[in-house]
Amino acid sequence: MNPVEIRKDFPIFAEQINGHPLVYLDSAATSQKPRQVLEVLKQYYEHENSNVHRGVHTLGTRATESYEGAREKVARFINAPSANQVVFTRGTTESLNMIAYGYARQRFQPGDEIVLPPSEHHSNLIPWQQVARATGATIKYLPLQSDGTIRLEDVEAAVTANTKLVTIAHVSNVLGAINPVKEIAEIAHRHGAIMVVDGAQSVPHMPVDVQEMDCDFLAFSGHKMCGPTGVGVLYGKKELLDEMEPTYFGGEMIDVVELYESTWKETPWKFEGGTPIIAGAVGLGAAVDYLTAIGLEEIAEHDAHLASLAIERLQSLNGIDVYGPEAGVHRGGLVTFNLRGVHPHDVATVLDTQGVAVRAGHHCAQPLMRILNVGSTARASFYLYNTEEDIDRLVEALQQAKEFFGHAIG
Ligand code: PMP
Repeated sequence: MNPVEIRKDFPIFAEQINGHPLVYLDSAATSQKPRQVLEVLKQYYEHENSNVHRGVHTLGTRATESYEGAREKVARFINAPSANQVVFTRGTTESLNMIAYGYARQRFQPGDEIVLPPSEHHSNLIPWQQVARATGATIKYLPLQSDGTIRLEDVEAAVTANTKLVTIAHVSNVLGAINPVKEIAEIAHRHGAIMVVDGAQSVPHMPVDVQEMDCDFLAFSGHKMCGPTGVGVLYGKKELLDEMEPTYFGGEMIDVVELYESTWKETPWKFEGGTPIIAGAVGLGAAVDYLTAIGLEEIAEHDAHLASLAIERLQSLNGIDVYGPEAGVHRGGLVTFNLRGVHPHDVATVLDTQGVAVRAGHHCAQPLMRILNVGSTARASFYLYNTEEDIDRLVEALQQAKEFFGHAIG
């Protein structure tokens, strides 16, 4: 895998940012888009655009074939047993909320438990708080180790016969820890609970096989994996999707509508109320083709290598705190850090003057920030188009920030 060649697929790298070539280290927030995806979107709108499923005209058939073809591509990408287990949603947040509304709220009652770590992204935390409020179920948080990882023995201890749902991010968006989802799913299932995996940071970056992992639901977003914004996926086991209630009611998702009651289409279409995210799904299908051609194993290795290199380089600079698992540990491609005594927004602003884009803030994980005892952090996240030179530029820009804020660093 050659990131220098890969970069040429991404028109955005022609941009100059504040007089410098762009160093984009914010792919965990959203990835850039290759020409191959942009061209498929253009082709779709220029030659296929129509509504799906109901039209009998030629364009309607083309659009339907492209849309349903994208579902098949996504299913193969995550090794779903059937394309009918892939629901197109707006993204991870919507997918997780659909499980909360359509599955958990319908079933949970006082005494039931939902088990998760406190390090989850707000999208995989607040929906469960809301389920607990609505149903009387209880949330049980797993203890976090100092590097943000969780221990399987703590999962064993937390999950009981009362546990109905266990959930965790496959890869933490703040710490980059890769969680042992397969082992956690096994514990959940042994106690009769279902396992929900937030794949927002894993599906774009590593091979993910839902059958191997044996999760009951998996949620992820297209925009973090070279696809367009506004599209994501909810994968579920067939029997659970069949049992689950739709969240949105209206056109497209119905079978028979009477005046006082109605019936729904089968899974997955019963979950896709209204005109679906047609172009988004087609674009996501193109992104899946693009990533598959490069190879997810190679991407995972590349991202982890850059993360380890970045950790080592940052740790060699005085005055920088790095959070999460050590360099060299099997981890996702992101690094979270703080320049001691300087607000990360200020750090990110100085880096931006050098064309280096990093994220600063609480990363939608306020409870985790409290555990780390920080208000916010800076985060550099890597993807297939990043190079070792990008890390050199990050380090140079950080050295400039250190000089600029020198007085503030203890
Ligand atoms: N979970 C994790 C781990 C994430 O990193 C993100 C995106 N930052 C989300 C959920 C939410 O994804 P989206 O905003 O695309 O719905």
